[in-house]
Amino acid sequence: MPYVVTEPCLDCKYTDCASVCPVQAFHEGPDHLYINPNTCIDCDACLTECPVDAIYSEQNVPDKWKNYIAINRDECEKYPVIQEKIRALKASRCVNSSAEP
Ligand code: SF4
Repeated sequence: MPYVVTEPCLDCKYTDCASVCPVQAFHEGPDHLYINPNTCIDCDACLTECPVDAIYSEQNVPDKWKNYIAINRDECEKYPVIQEKIRALKASRCVNSSAEP
């Protein structure tokens, strides 16, 4: 089962996850990252990289964020692959918006 980026990523967009993915499964939208479920090989590498705990395996996505399974599947098609770490967005809705990058 693929991995899923959920709500805590919103406006944060740390990209530590994308830089460790061996298959370029991450796509970068304007305010959120998305995992392509057809590319993800369930390697688990990204899970512990996220500073805001936004990533879950599909079977472990909390009920309140189950909608992100479909969001990742649909939105990843709209945006380019990201495979390197860039400066975090950390805009107003990011839980770490006042923290250092
Ligand atoms: Fe990439 Fe592995 Fe994370 Fe899937 S689980 S998105 S393959 S790093």
